[in-house]
Amino acid sequence: MLDRPFQAPSLDQHALARGLSGHHFIGGHFVSALSGRTFAVHNPATGELVAQAAEGDAADVDAAVTNAAIAQKTWARLPARKRGAMVAQCAGLIREHVEELARLIALETGKALRTESRVEANTVADILEFYGGLGSELKGESVPFAPEILSVTVREPLGVVGAIIPWNVPMLLMALKIAPALVAGNTVVVKSAEEAPLTVLRICELMGRILPPGCFNMLSGYGPECGAPLVSHPKIRKVTFTGSAEVGRIVSKTAADKLIPVTLELGGKSPMIVFADCEFDTTVGGAITSMRFTRQGQSCTAASRIYVERPIFDAFVDALAAKVDAMVMGDPLDEKTDIGTIISREQFDKVQRYIDEGLSTKGASGRACSALPADPALKKGLFIRPHIFTGLSNESRLVQEEIFGPVTCIFPFDDAEAVLTAANDSEYSLAASVWTNNLRVAMSLAHRLEAGLVQINQNLVVQANLSYGGVKSSGLGKEASLEAMLEHFMHKKTIMVNYQ
Ligand code: ADP
Repeated sequence: MLDRPFQAPSLDQHALARGLSGHHFIGGHFVSALSGRTFAVHNPATGELVAQAAEGDAADVDAAVTNAAIAQKTWARLPARKRGAMVAQCAGLIREHVEELARLIALETGKALRTESRVEANTVADILEFYGGLGSELKGESVPFAPEILSVTVREPLGVVGAIIPWNVPMLLMALKIAPALVAGNTVVVKSAEEAPLTVLRICELMGRILPPGCFNMLSGYGPECGAPLVSHPKIRKVTFTGSAEVGRIVSKTAADKLIPVTLELGGKSPMIVFADCEFDTTVGGAITSMRFTRQGQSCTAASRIYVERPIFDAFVDALAAKVDAMVMGDPLDEKTDIGTIISREQFDKVQRYIDEGLSTKGASGRACSALPADPALKKGLFIRPHIFTGLSNESRLVQEEIFGPVTCIFPFDDAEAVLTAANDSEYSLAASVWTNNLRVAMSLAHRLEAGLVQINQNLVVQANLSYGGVKSSGLGKEASLEAMLEHFMHKKTIMVNYQ
């Protein structure tokens, strides 16, 4: 058992990263992996080694789940509002540490501090606050069965929840899982993403000051060695997963064998549909937000397919390219930076392969925007210039597959029905947006677009209180809302009282 690294907020992200090195968080304590193994965490902007993470395996999973199962018995007996109040208190602590968390996540993921990392840290607090206030909403019903027989339903927690998270917005996606799980009376074991294990571990330490030991546990490690045994552990009664469709299917199969519920938030290839009557400048700006260029396009909801009505097509492509050109790519920790780095070498190579394929496609053209940073300290950084492609066919891999990088494909269209068909022609169906001043057209498309979330004249990222989750290969179940907590982290029990 190791001492807690930093009690007060620390703005020295390097020292913080070193202090968090080599730990899981189990039963309210930082502990090393039972095997003693660790793996390296690098700063993707410089390539430097910033920390070692504990390399978890089945033995660590068992220790964490056992702790969580013991803690759950007591946690579930607390009044729901008390659980909520504690989660809300955690939100307050996170708010006090926003700057610290933002700097640490920028260090380990390469996401720019001003445009992304600070926003994410604030959203974590917002999500915890939102769910913290919902303790009283875990209501059941009374059922009119027969006179003198009182029949009611009550909602009960499921037990220990296994949560597996990715690296793109790890704090936020973790909050979407742990907050409803905890308020509902479950305890949680999180498996962090191997690329981003540090900031979420710091959040464990913060929340561990408020929550009883064992309620919230975290393991770092690789998917097959640490994630898979978590899903298959007999005491895990629910799995909530965000990641690739490929791994989502593996997780889902194991959960099916165990007959446990699973929530899956998988990939996306989200269309943005722009009509000629849109507010032009707002919509061009909206395309930057929609494509999540400030997150290097590393988002499931990135507008990686943009369909623009033909009369404004050329002007729109030019205006978008000019706006992306003006964005500053650089040190994620610099306040001037708009665009940071890709997360890892593996992801960098994958995105680059898609770009090369697009550039060599006959009839296609790809504009590289923004400029690579000139700072020699960043020469090993995983920076990729945003690319805007035109002239690709709908069958192209760039149009059909999730790239998870700063690459968008733009197409002209001539009528609403044709664009609807093209937009729905995808394996994924997570999010979509429609940009027009004609509400009748917008609503007609909104009802027929295959997506879990359709936004008109905006494209916000996930927000507390709005159900979020896709259909088709984009996933199963919803997150972020009251219903998500009630439907995915609780079950309903019927109780009948015969008082004749
Ligand atoms: P990405 O492509 O975004 O890295 P992945 O689906 O590969 O998405 O990973 C998302 C999360 O799933 C990570 O925490 C990863 O370690 C975990 N993971 C990968 N393989 C498995 C597996 N076989 N079982 C459980 N979790 C896994």
